Parts: sequence; C-alpha cells; structure tokens
Amino acid sequence: MDRYGRATGPAPRRDTTRSVIVRDGSLARKVKELEGDRCQICDTALRYLNRPYSQAAHIRGLGRPHHGPDELRNLLCLCANCHVLFDGLEIYVDPDGLVRDTRGGREPRPLRRDPGHPLDEAHIAYHRSLCNLNARKPAVG
Ligand SMILES: [Zn+2]
Repeated sequence: MDRYGRATGPAPRRDTTRSVIVRDGSLARKVKELEGDRCQICDTALRYLNRPYSQAAHIRGLGRPHHGPDELRNLLCLCANCHVLFDGLEIYVDPDGLVRDTRGGREPRPLRRDPGHPLDEAHIAYHRSLCNLNARKPAVG
C-alpha cells in the first residue's frame, strides 16, 4: 500500500484446482464464422484489438442444473451485451423466432439466422421457460 492506502504492484495470486466443463472451441468458431461475427439479436459487429469479436452463447447452459449439450444447435453468436441479457434471462426467443424482453419493455425483433446454422427449438423453449419463471410480475395495486 502507498501512503494513500492504494494497492501497489500486481494483484495477489493464489493456486487453485477447479473442475471445468470442456467446451469444443471449434463449435464456437463455427457459429461465429456462420454468423459473420455479427450479433444475431442486435446485429452489432464488435471489434477488439483490430479483429472481429463475438461470443458463442449456449442457449441451454452447459452447467448444472441445465446440462445443455455443447453442439451447434445449442449455440448463438452474440455480442457481449446481448449475451449477458440472454444468460441473465432478460431476453428470450419466442415461438415465432422474435427476440422479446422478459418484461415486455422493448420492440420484438427477429433472431437473425444464417441458413446453414441449425437451431434446436427444444433448447430455445427451455431457455424461454426459465425466462417465464424469472419474469417480474407487475406490482399489484
Ligand atoms: Zn447484440
């Protein structure tokens, strides 16, 4: 610490052992390539360090309790913002393929899909069911 109480030097480190899910990096690259590194929800094309940047998002989460499969049909290509909103159950894809706000606060817009990118409606329905559980009910009175 310096005389103002600020940390100096690198952050401290500790060793850990963790069990992590092994994701197939080639699938993530494939969905990004199919969708041209462009967000399927908001159409944003981010760049990071002079390269296209997008994220591969699992529709049905891989971890507990969802146990979704690591397969192309369970992946979307999203920007960082939409990935957070999707994982946070703030947005979902309705049965007509429209992306909606869990609280109904924004205009629905179609999920863009490359014809070569298959999606499994069962995974989309699973995610939607979580959003319905998470939906905030309007205050009564
Ligand atoms: Zn987006």
